[in-house]
Amino acid sequence: MKRVMYYLDIRTNLPAGGPDRDFSRELLKKGLRCRDGCGGIPTEHEGEPATVRYTWKPSLAIESATRAEGLMTPMWRAISRYLPNAVVGTFEWHRPDGVIVPVKQYVSVYVPVLDRVCLRGFRKYSICRQCGAVRCRDVNAKKYVLTGDLRDRRVAMTMSRGILVDKKMRDKLAAMKLRGLRFYPYEIRDEPLDGRPASLDDWPQLAKWRKKRSR
Ligand SMILES: [Zn+2]
Repeated sequence: MKRVMYYLDIRTNLPAGGPDRDFSRELLKKGLRCRDGCGGIPTEHEGEPATVRYTWKPSLAIESATRAEGLMTPMWRAISRYLPNAVVGTFEWHRPDGVIVPVKQYVSVYVPVLDRVCLRGFRKYSICRQCGAVRCRDVNAKKYVLTGDLRDRRVAMTMSRGILVDKKMRDKLAAMKLRGLRFYPYEIRDEPLDGRPASLDDWPQLAKWRKKRSR
């Protein structure tokens, strides 16, 4: 039987994603958000809690944004002990009347880049120059995760800040019937299919980012 991890996804026919664009631009100007499409947190700011701000009230299990994922608190409570290095921040709603209010039913969550897992492909990757996140750029390729990268974790964040869970956690979350939540399987493989070293620590292109890793 294939070993898999399940990616937490949102059903697309529901209204998802309402990040405040002015806020995102402001973050970019202040150097608090990576450029070039990464949308993550530049390494020098990693570890600081991120605020996610939406222009409408969130309602789904996951409300994605740049820098961090917005997670409904019951979901966060279910997975938090398995993401010990996660940095937790706040979620805000920028109301139509201009007032910014906290949304207590959500938290923002991200994991430092060195603790994230890479969705591997067959050929092409891009590396963010501000945080060292590696993303596969193969179009339509069926991506996978590597055993050595996952290290038996039951829950892990991907380089693009998506969340992977094992079968047991998948079943637990499915039973919670969180709004919009669905699961997409990624195969776990022992060896990469891209001809590159299995460990990102051994990629020459990543030497600048990964040599400070201490484990
Ligand atoms: Zn980045």
